[in-house]
Amino acid sequence: MPYALVHYHELALKGRNRGFFEQRLIQHLQNSLKKANVTEVRPLSGRIRITFPNESSWEDIRDRIRHTFGVANYSLAHALPIDYETPDLKPLCEAIATALQSRTFETFRVTTKRADKRFSKTSVELNREIGAYLCAATGKRVRLNGADVNVVVEVVDHTVYFSLVKYPGPGGLPTGISRNVLCLISGGIDSPVAAYRMMKRGCRVIFVHFHGRPYLSRASEEKVRDLVSLLTRYQLTARLYLVPFGEIQRQIVADSPAPIRVVLYRRMMMRIAEQLAEKEHCWGLVTGDSLGQVASQTAENLQTVSQVAHLPILRPLIGMDKIEITDEAQQIGTFETSIEPDQDCCTLFVPRHPNTRCRLDTIQQTEESLSIQDMVREGLEAAELAEFSFHAS
Ligand code: ATP
Ligand code: MG
Repeated sequence: MPYALVHYHELALKGRNRGFFEQRLIQHLQNSLKKANVTEVRPLSGRIRITFPNESSWEDIRDRIRHTFGVANYSLAHALPIDYETPDLKPLCEAIATALQSRTFETFRVTTKRADKRFSKTSVELNREIGAYLCAATGKRVRLNGADVNVVVEVVDHTVYFSLVKYPGPGGLPTGISRNVLCLISGGIDSPVAAYRMMKRGCRVIFVHFHGRPYLSRASEEKVRDLVSLLTRYQLTARLYLVPFGEIQRQIVADSPAPIRVVLYRRMMMRIAEQLAEKEHCWGLVTGDSLGQVASQTAENLQTVSQVAHLPILRPLIGMDKIEITDEAQQIGTFETSIEPDQDCCTLFVPRHPNTRCRLDTIQQTEESLSIQDMVREGLEAAELAEFSFHAS
């Protein structure tokens, strides 16, 4: 019977919270594997064991583990029962030698971990004995650093597991550990990466997108739906609020000089987002801002925008360069969708040279002539909710 053994790092460091972290990780894996061919997901001395009847399901199972935050690494393992007092290593050695037949390699090493110290041999003894057998059986050499194959042997609960490949997981913390946040997602390259970063630190992300309808086409909205759908892979379900912003922008334009409009738009977005955040029990707002990247992201303008929110505004990309953000977007698979052409609402009625230093007093003066509360209410009333589920796709 094949198994997947899932290991976690960071969680193990969390002292008293460890049980809670493990529980969340197991729960997430169970949810993610709901429709996979799996018989059991259970904790096993500092790792998680996934049991499945048929090795042909491995790629599918692997794909689900790969998208689970909190997983440091994982492997496909096989198991044999073992006696602690008088262990017979022969069946284990034979099984490993057979498994190695499908691999091309010149050098190998054996790395044993005993979760159960009652086992009568030490890890070093096991490494030596298994290594000696494999040298004789395969004719290959042992190499401790940089071996082609690392045979990992784990003794847990009267069973010995072995695996030949360790795959890196996405790391981070399990979904839900860090509660809910609301991400303002634009359809550009940056905000999906910002959402990913927060998910990776254990937040469940709820999304809001402001679209230019009725003045602009549905393009940005469709892109954002695609992006949220891609990101849903990591948290299994997602909610996206779609807020029509064209009419609000028209009202702002009627009463404001062009160079400060982007900052006024952003402040309106923040106010509406904050109401949605409270409704969704979110502790923070997330944006894809990166310091100094565009006019709305200068130190002064970020400060002027931040001033309207009561909740913390989280900007996980603040210190990253565009090129670093782009690389990450490619890695997580959102880049191709983000670069599809669209019409972002922020391009509506703005000049080519926006003010890079909007002073708070100027902004506040302009806002006095706007019916801010009515605009927030209109936005909230017109918001549509779209729900996403990984299992539905
Ligand atoms: P992105 O690539 O995420 O669009 P950007 O570098 O293009 O970022 P801006 O367009 O200035 O920068 O947007 C900065 C941030 O403001 C975005 O990352 C996003 O969090 C938020 N934002 C901008 N436009 C919208 C929108 N239409 N709906 C929701 N959030 C938005
Ligand atoms: Mg943008």
